[in-house]
Amino acid sequence: MTTHNADSAAALEVELVPILQDNYAYVITDVETGTVGVVDPGEASAIEAALRDMDLTPDWILLTHHHHDHINGAARLAESYGAKIAGAKADAARLPKLDAALIAGEDWSFGAQIVEIIDTPGHTVGHIAYHFEGAKVLFSGDTLFAMGCGRLFEGTALQMWQSLRKLAALPPETSVYCGHEYTLSNAAFAKTIEPNNPALIDRVAEVEALRGEGLPTIPTTIGRELATNPFIRAFEPAVKNALNLPGADDAAVFAQIRRRKDEA
Ligand SMILES: [Zn+2]
Repeated sequence: MTTHNADSAAALEVELVPILQDNYAYVITDVETGTVGVVDPGEASAIEAALRDMDLTPDWILLTHHHHDHINGAARLAESYGAKIAGAKADAARLPKLDAALIAGEDWSFGAQIVEIIDTPGHTVGHIAYHFEGAKVLFSGDTLFAMGCGRLFEGTALQMWQSLRKLAALPPETSVYCGHEYTLSNAAFAKTIEPNNPALIDRVAEVEALRGEGLPTIPTTIGRELATNPFIRAFEPAVKNALNLPGADDAAVFAQIRRRKDEA
């Protein structure tokens, strides 16, 4: 499945590659320069097959965080294709050897694309997201999922809440490509928080139909997440009331939702 954001001068093609149990890696092409990248290669062979099918050679490997299911294929792909590896400078000690040590808050160039590197601690402390500003595409790794968010393995609930707020501030039409196909179980959990949210009810029906046909539910958009994702909606009075936490601090409400999901 290729998404071609052709309406923009900064067109970026994104090919979704299912890997491992439920991970997604992505092969991306900057149309203007032909620069090719692979996002979060948790294994090499499925991605090599996809690259062969598309007759593409990667120039870059882009890593969101250090977990093995996002980096395990990186060294082999870098070696066999001569690709360079990009990742967070702050987490360089836990990543394969970086050719581009990215500093969160700064911009990076991928072909003709300007990529905003967003610091998104919470799931891991060194997690970053890649925002392709012109193409309006976000690679969110294990920070923001469709109707969900990553578990807090290293960071605090406050850190994750602040990370999600940064992503929520991107243009609502931004396409979001995340690290896992967790959408069905996230949808079931979201319904326990906001059973009467009409946007959520519609979306649950849609993702059940997609998964019933074995199709991916990715990409989502920032706008859809703001309408349906209970984690990113923790500031909404409707969500606070549903949790019997009216008037509570946004981050505290987020922390409560995260705890419920962990125990679900
Ligand atoms: Zn992870």
